[in-house]
Amino acid sequence: MQSNCNVIVIANQKGGVGKTTTTENVGIGLAKEGKKVLLIDFDPQADLSASLGIRNSDNMDHTICEALNGIIQDIPINYDDLIIHHDENVDIIPSNIELADFELKLVSVMSRERILDMTLEPLRKKYDVILIDCPPSLGMLTINALSSADKVLIPVQAQYLPAKGMTKLLGTINKVQHQINPRITVLGVAITLANMQTNLGKSTVDTLRENFDQHINVFDTVIPIGVKAAEATVVGKSVYEHAKDSNVAKAYENLTKEIVRSQKTKHKSSHER
Ligand code: ADP
Ligand code: MG
Repeated sequence: MQSNCNVIVIANQKGGVGKTTTTENVGIGLAKEGKKVLLIDFDPQADLSASLGIRNSDNMDHTICEALNGIIQDIPINYDDLIIHHDENVDIIPSNIELADFELKLVSVMSRERILDMTLEPLRKKYDVILIDCPPSLGMLTINALSSADKVLIPVQAQYLPAKGMTKLLGTINKVQHQINPRITVLGVAITLANMQTNLGKSTVDTLRENFDQHINVFDTVIPIGVKAAEATVVGKSVYEHAKDSNVAKAYENLTKEIVRSQKTKHKSSHER
């Protein structure tokens, strides 16, 4: 069934590139823009849950795992039990370490790539945007996330030579598009953890942009490296709430606005066609 909900998956098989930080701050940024937003923690490490102040998820029964098991075992899911409201106006479904077992369990399950997609079906009607934070691998969890995606947002750390990893990621997205989910498109690359104070940092960003721009959208906004981002993670708040005048907060606000604008242009051009 058609809905206006946009499912945006934040993926990159490399760890520490800012996936979780981007999911949280773009998600809360979109809520500030008036969107109804659901965040899904799809990493067994549960960093997104912790970043939003949910630190005991390993002892929680109601996580994304419960919903996935509901689909697999064909038992009804009570979504209200799973959704936690964060006071910065977003909802979140937490994850916990059990999600690591799920990957193994899936081997013998029918339609194993589409379990998350089926899980999200009733939620698509309730939200404008669903953001999914992926683990740092291209295993079955990330494949499930991509299979449910309308868009993929790829955070890339401002460093030389991320090219090999990107080729693999784009290849996986292509395969998912051909074999499972024809809807999926790449929203763009967000350059993160950039050191814009130095010439080396700036030239790294320029080189990345030149390399990607030929075949993939790169957002104008670059997320700078900033201690406020790391601190915000520790205190369980967004960068806006923790340090609203910081460069990182301004950058995430700008990135969010770019994402909103790109959606509007897309809609317009599809009406005009
Ligand atoms: P991933 O989810 O890709 O593994 P994270 O978002 O968890 O990456 O970021 C990795 C670490 O870097 C975290 O400790 C986070 O707080 C920190 N971090 C993320 N973005 C920034 C930034 N812009 N400046 C400084 N530290 C950051
Ligand atoms: Mg993460």
